[in-house]
Amino acid sequence: MSVIERIEEAGVVGVGGAGFPTHVKYKADIEYLIINAAECEPLLKTDHYVMKNHALEVIKGIDIMKKETGAKHAVIATKAYYKEEITALEAAKVELGSDVSFHLMENFYPSGDEFIMVYEVTGRVVPPAGIPLMVGCVVSNISTMLNIYHAIVEQKPVTSKRLTVTGAVGEPTLLEVPIGTSFEKCLEAAGGTTLETYLFIDGGPMMGKLHSQDELAQKVVTKTTSGLIVVENSGYLKKFKDETLDQIFDKAKLACIDCSLCSQLCPRQMIGHDISPHKVMHYFSKVEMGTEVVDNEILRGALICSSCGVCEIIACPRGLSPRQVNNYVKREFAKQNIRYKNEKTEFEIDPIRDCKATTSNNILIKFGLLPYVAYQLDEVKVIDTDEVFIPLNMHIGSPSIPIVNAGDKVDVGDLIAKTPAGALGANIHASISGNVIGSSAKNIHIKKI
Ligand code: SF4
Ligand code: SF4
Repeated sequence: MSVIERIEEAGVVGVGGAGFPTHVKYKADIEYLIINAAECEPLLKTDHYVMKNHALEVIKGIDIMKKETGAKHAVIATKAYYKEEITALEAAKVELGSDVSFHLMENFYPSGDEFIMVYEVTGRVVPPAGIPLMVGCVVSNISTMLNIYHAIVEQKPVTSKRLTVTGAVGEPTLLEVPIGTSFEKCLEAAGGTTLETYLFIDGGPMMGKLHSQDELAQKVVTKTTSGLIVVENSGYLKKFKDETLDQIFDKAKLACIDCSLCSQLCPRQMIGHDISPHKVMHYFSKVEMGTEVVDNEILRGALICSSCGVCEIIACPRGLSPRQVNNYVKREFAKQNIRYKNEKTEFEIDPIRDCKATTSNNILIKFGLLPYVAYQLDEVKVIDTDEVFIPLNMHIGSPSIPIVNAGDKVDVGDLIAKTPAGALGANIHASISGNVIGSSAKNIHIKKI
């Protein structure tokens, strides 16, 4: 079996984003293999753990993929202040005689956005709505690289996930759990919550999804789950959770002062993409809610928004939500099958880009999360569970097709769902040994015997 086939067989997907199937990404000749080790969402620490504790495996994985793809350069892009992590990776590099290099960045958000990272490492701009391969690059998260190593060297499929459980919890911790484990079980493993009523974030503070307490029971860990952050059901986050789309548009009409700060601080605009959230806000301040969203130059910019959240969480002095408005435009354009067409080949970089960077502290202060930043999360608790509900759509592409039925006995690592023939997708494996209780179009339920 080839290296790429092993990665495909093991069901490896990008753990740092939406779960793009890794074997597809690597079917290419590339110039730069870039390893995203920025972990730029504040409070999340699993990539730190991987860098410190699995450096040898990661460097071996990088060396294999560099050779496989014929990449001229393999570069670990991380933050200069991750001293211990860099020391561990440097030591592994020397031990293995690897020629991987390091690109050290300042502590800014969103340094882990692959468009931003490609620019930081190579000085090249990925075209709007494009992919890094268009400028000779592939970007993989460092934890994805560990999964690649497991797939190629140990023939081990992806069956577990590490995540950070933090915020208002009894014992903030890093967990490793079987995929399909309930969030309730994860919270319990972190000592439960210290709050009577709470909200929780599935992921990091900026790009994670904010949920109400009663949604905890429906959530399970997937291949892309990075964090579970419990927060107070008050202040900025409560306002953020409760606001309806109608209210967002009403406020845009009443309160937007057209100051353009949302555009000036937009990380994608700063690398020369034609995205201007303030113009989108201005447009909607002049039309009635429910007016058909038509294709025009201003609104089209919303299609190349990364949803990083800088405009609404950091930039806007009036507490408005350009990101939500962009998301609305994206949904409306998707219904009309309107896609972004890039015609630009030259990109003008904002000359004062470095001075306008959003820092982790800006984010933590805005969310009221500063009290949690000092937690030492150096150990991983490995958690077992009696039952899992393994989702079939944990990746970009088509949901996987179950190949097991109720009553089947499975062992951890057995293939239980496959990519539909000819489709983009990823294999899925049993994360615990037990009996299949049932499978549906959404998930496969397995219980220990
Ligand atoms: S969320 Fe806002 S700041 Fe981020 S890319 Fe979109 S418009 Fe720019
Ligand atoms: S930053 Fe806020 S007030 Fe200023 S243009 Fe953007 S949405 Fe309007």
